[in-house]
Amino acid sequence: MKEKYRQEREKRLRADGTAQYLPLQGVFADFDKDPYVEPGFTRPALTERTDVLIVGGGFGGMLAGARLRQAGVDSFRIVEKGSDFGGTWYWNRYPGAACDVESYIYLPLLEETGYMPREKYAKAPEIFAHCQRIGRHFDLYKAALFQTLVRTMDWDEGTRRWNITTDRGDLIAARFVIIAGGILHKAKLPGIPGIETFQGHCFHTSRWDYAYTGGSPTSPMTKLGDKRVGIIGTGATSVQAIPHLGATARQLYVFQRTPSGVGVRANQPTDEAWAKSLQPGWQQERIRNFSAIVSGRQQPVDMVNDGWTYIFQGLDLTQARSAEEAAELAQLSDFRKMEEIRARVGALVKDAATAEALKPYYNQMCKRPCFHDEYLPTFNRPNVQLVDTEGKGVERITPTGVVVNGREYPVDCLVYASGFEVAGEFTQKLGFDIRGRGGRSLRDAWAQGPATLHGMHSRGYPNLMLFTTTQSGWAINFVHILDEQSQHAAHIIARCLKQGVEVSEPSEQAQQQWWDVILGRLKTSATFGGADCTPGYYNNEGMKAGPEMMKFATFGGDTLAFIDVLREWRKGEEFVGLELTRGGAEVQS
Ligand code: NDP
Repeated sequence: MKEKYRQEREKRLRADGTAQYLPLQGVFADFDKDPYVEPGFTRPALTERTDVLIVGGGFGGMLAGARLRQAGVDSFRIVEKGSDFGGTWYWNRYPGAACDVESYIYLPLLEETGYMPREKYAKAPEIFAHCQRIGRHFDLYKAALFQTLVRTMDWDEGTRRWNITTDRGDLIAARFVIIAGGILHKAKLPGIPGIETFQGHCFHTSRWDYAYTGGSPTSPMTKLGDKRVGIIGTGATSVQAIPHLGATARQLYVFQRTPSGVGVRANQPTDEAWAKSLQPGWQQERIRNFSAIVSGRQQPVDMVNDGWTYIFQGLDLTQARSAEEAAELAQLSDFRKMEEIRARVGALVKDAATAEALKPYYNQMCKRPCFHDEYLPTFNRPNVQLVDTEGKGVERITPTGVVVNGREYPVDCLVYASGFEVAGEFTQKLGFDIRGRGGRSLRDAWAQGPATLHGMHSRGYPNLMLFTTTQSGWAINFVHILDEQSQHAAHIIARCLKQGVEVSEPSEQAQQQWWDVILGRLKTSATFGGADCTPGYYNNEGMKAGPEMMKFATFGGDTLAFIDVLREWRKGEEFVGLELTRGGAEVQS
């Protein structure tokens, strides 16, 4: 099996790695247009001072706003590209979109807002509505500047503030800045030869064109009955959208490069009796229980008990006598679980050749595991055809269709389910540069690899808090990390404002010590999408990373270990590693 996995990886390795993808710019800029707003929005430009500017109005930005309010900080602004809160849940309205981590742990602030999701895996409209609920509950709307992009961000030594300009002409002077721009927020297109020549209709899944397809996120697509539709990509998005396209299109071609592993979903309505029985504090307890299990920590009870936790069930590495033995045990367990995933394909897909092509041959965490109960049976429909490219990808796009292995598949509509740019090198993805002390660009400063404390602060960039994965926590339920980062930022900002601290900045030594911690973890802990994996965004498309890229590493697989570092740090009064300056005088370091 190891050899089979190796061969499958080899088939997919390509010299251009991440460069194979195209950003939504230039001739592709139209792909990035917001289909959910009327064009022509205007508002007067603002000139103002604020305590905190938050970039991004997705879960990260909203959580930051909520936690700031709870900490008594009310002077803040949230700058957001969309016309409402929601971030990924604002943009992703494709048919079938739903959270794939259980909604009781994924939707933030359920107890605070008094809301209980209707299903174990909530659908996108319900999640978007919850974002709006958070916005209302924490009075975030009055802080929001929607349909606005930050253009420049400069540290002003004189005022000890960040000066921010936007594409709407705003000038904002903020004491603190929180960057909560998301980790997968820029859609990308596959760089397939001829892509710009296609004459039919096309769009990216994160800008779903219901005007063309008919229907809505909650109703069937009524205008596809006479259309031949192609979809490129078979990742987590596609797995959710394909059953809906298959049910409505005259003909659906699914162009596959690498199959996803698709486990059981078993969605169900929320049990009202269970919901009523919950005691205060239940959500945090459940969130921690899940993160513990999927970080490889056995727990007495598995509260979520779903496909995610199943991946880690039965794996007890505490009995292993050496690191090698532990790795071997983990690999054997992975083979068994993936064998079950492959057997599921065989049981659900009738055509033997199609079934074989849909079987994934790689370790489970090489790619985002998917869970769905209608995806695989969709390939039994007479109007749905899997076009497997055997790891090579689509050969060419013509004005009228898609070419694979020399054969053209004519389509009226082409859907790109080709994913998002990954924020590993997050300074490149922000869309603006951050210029800190002495006008030094963060992009330049981090060209040889970032230096941070907790992945959140960087020397030379005072009062700046970053919510990224760089030298920071990672979680399958990523909202867990965002909430901890939010609480951490709110705690620091509230105290600085209360005590008249105008500048907080990590020391050189603290950054070095933090890197030593990360390095130690890199050597000892398992990470996702390792070098042996089939290419994908988890492993930089299989490209070898240089030493500077290594510095963009996350804290490593154990979510709770990272969170506990932040919590312990906050317990201390002294803000170890941060140099604090009050009105010109350094108060401590
Ligand atoms: P992905 O990056 O996971 O998938 C992109 C797909 O496009 C892959 O199947 C890729 O193939 C394929 N592709 C790229 N280039 C070509 C080509 N030239 N020819 C054919 N196929 C090509 O994007 P998604 O939008 O599916 O998912 C991104 C992430 O968003 C997920 O991993 C997950 O983290 C998140 N997500 C979460 C959801 C949830 O919570 N419910 C739902 C959807 C997404 P290959 O694999 O070979 O590279």
